[in-house]
Amino acid sequence: MTAVTAPGFEMSGRSGPWVAWDPVPEGHTIHRLAVRHRELFAGQVVEVESPQGRFTAGAALLSGRVLADTEAYGKHLLHHFAGELTLHVHLGLYGKFTDGEPPVPAPVGLVRMRMVGERHWLDLRGPTACEVLEPGAVAALRARLGQDPLRDDAEPLIAYAKIVRSRKPVFALLLDQSVVAGCGLIYANEVLFRAGLAPTTPGTAIGLAQWQEMWEDLRALMKEGVARGRIDTVHTAHTPEAMQRAPRVDRHGGEVYVYRRPAQPCLVCGTPIDRGPLAGRNLYWCSKCQAVPTAPRTARPRARTAPKPAGRPAAAGRARNSP
Ligand SMILES: [Zn+2]
Repeated sequence: MTAVTAPGFEMSGRSGPWVAWDPVPEGHTIHRLAVRHRELFAGQVVEVESPQGRFTAGAALLSGRVLADTEAYGKHLLHHFAGELTLHVHLGLYGKFTDGEPPVPAPVGLVRMRMVGERHWLDLRGPTACEVLEPGAVAALRARLGQDPLRDDAEPLIAYAKIVRSRKPVFALLLDQSVVAGCGLIYANEVLFRAGLAPTTPGTAIGLAQWQEMWEDLRALMKEGVARGRIDTVHTAHTPEAMQRAPRVDRHGGEVYVYRRPAQPCLVCGTPIDRGPLAGRNLYWCSKCQAVPTAPRTARPRARTAPKPAGRPAAAGRARNSP
């Protein structure tokens, strides 16, 4: 049972303290925005202003320039303008874009940035970051971000090199934006379930082949998220139609195995899904499908996970959310 008590927070009903439920948009949402903004504005001279007044100086730098291209890097959105200036936006917890066709409406609420092109307008409210960057600062931003599964230039081996050197739980490493950029709470929980991997498994115990499988799975799931605009992670055998069950009802939308399904039966084995805080985030897992290996002697001959006990989910190092 989930008791929603305030926007952004829920009670961790089965165990543990209150934990932010992480409504930060995951990478697929930012990539969708990059595509949409490219379609609406790329190649056009745009007018930029800050009705709220907090981005007035930045808007003045950009207004009247051509918006050359857009791209997403993890949870960061970049609008590249002629003259080597880049608008950097991180939506954070509360940021939101809206767009439409003329007539341009009077600004409603605290509009940090408004962009008006030939055929569309775009408003941004409540972002964590909205700033103009020069090329050196863009390079520095990229340098501190990890590998983004949605980018063709991603190098999963660079992410693996960080993972295999760390004793942090793989769950925390997946959420660390300096390791994997764009992976949020839903994808981290779900990809571990699909891998049959205990979320507490230390990075040092992740094999290369295992990582490559997980990376490809994450990449495929996130690409589907970009295409659909929602996160679905269940295999065809576990869809509502295949299982003759009612579709999931949750404000995040899609069909998932464990995320925000505490105490509900695992779609694979029927075990009630567990929930607990790990690395300061809400972890959901099936204790049977993602069992922690108990001892070397009981490990399967070709165990996919480390034979060392990884321990129960508990307070661990905090995952870095937005480097
Ligand atoms: Zn299960």
